[in-house]
Amino acid sequence: MPTETRLPAIDASVLHTDGGTPYLREPGVVVLAVPATDIRGMAVFLDGYDPALGFPAYLEDPTVLPPAEQLCKTAGQVCYASFGPKRTWNVDAGRYIANIKASGHGSVLEHATFSLLCYGVSRSLTHELVRHRAGTAASQLSQRYVSGRVLRFVERPEYRDDPELHRLFCARIDAAAEAYARLTEMLLDRQRAGQQLLGAEERTDLRKKVQQCSRSLLPNETEAPLVMTANARAWRHIIEMRASPHAELEIRELAFRIYRVLCEVAPLLFGDYAEYRLPDGTRALETPHPKV
Ligand SMILES: Cc1cc2nc3c(=O)[nH]c(=O)nc-3n(C[C@H](O)[C@H](O)[C@H](O)COP(=O)(O)OP(=O)(O)OC[C@H]3O[C@@H](n4cnc5c(N)ncnc54)[C@H](O)[C@@H]3O)c2cc1C
Repeated sequence: MPTETRLPAIDASVLHTDGGTPYLREPGVVVLAVPATDIRGMAVFLDGYDPALGFPAYLEDPTVLPPAEQLCKTAGQVCYASFGPKRTWNVDAGRYIANIKASGHGSVLEHATFSLLCYGVSRSLTHELVRHRAGTAASQLSQRYVSGRVLRFVERPEYRDDPELHRLFCARIDAAAEAYARLTEMLLDRQRAGQQLLGAEERTDLRKKVQQCSRSLLPNETEAPLVMTANARAWRHIIEMRASPHAELEIRELAFRIYRVLCEVAPLLFGDYAEYRLPDGTRALETPHPKV
């Protein structure tokens, strides 16, 4: 269902080797979902208190916040019943959220979740990404259920500008795609010939059993798109771990892109990160408020 403003995306284009094998050179990140916050329904709740407290005016704040920030701020303000005229108004939400970060009350940030589609990422990258468990959910392309028609690869940053490494990469993925197709056909032939090598009966089951076997030859540089949902606290932790100088280049590039799109949709939750250059010319992110 389209909203008035489109959610941000950082695109990544698909290239092809001379042999026709598709590959990507950088991660694409698409924001699929952000919180949909509507606090108007709090009217009856606020009206139920002593009128002298002036709580109903909480809904008359003239400053409109992005939905994630409004959600976290309202959740935090419920803790102290901060609805009266002396509360922090939305115009000062930046200071309010900075206080939450500085005092380490990160659970308030767990209310806001963001779902991102990440593509142009390799299987070795996603193997690391899905290690983040707390506050996250991941749905990843299944190499058992999809056929070679959606097989794509990811070129590592180190290969892109080195003609020899790039040529070897192209040759390697052409060979991998061909070997995958050949092995899949061989397995299907054997199965059709009645060998019941894989013990499959139904047609989809047959494909699945063939693909779960032939995927064994796919390299780490096979693309593994996934949708990852995480709350703001978890995304912050992921950004800190994966845009750090200790993280490897591919996942660091993804972490930068995740940071950039999240900054667009929730600047007060993610705007405290600063980019800095490392001696090797690459970049990393840091914040004065790690692990809130
Ligand atoms: C540079 C780098 C190198 C790495 N190298 C390796 C490696 O060589 N081998 C390897 O296996 N892994 C490696 N990892 C992965 C790492 O060990 C973690 O599994 C991964 O970073 C997930 O982070 P997390 O443990 O903070 O979990 P998250 O799920 O992101 O959890 C966030 C935070 O929640 C808390 N938390 C989560 N689960 C629990 C729990 N069960 N009990 C208590 N508190 C919890 C912790 O405070 C945790 O930091 C590496 C990670 C990085 C960034």
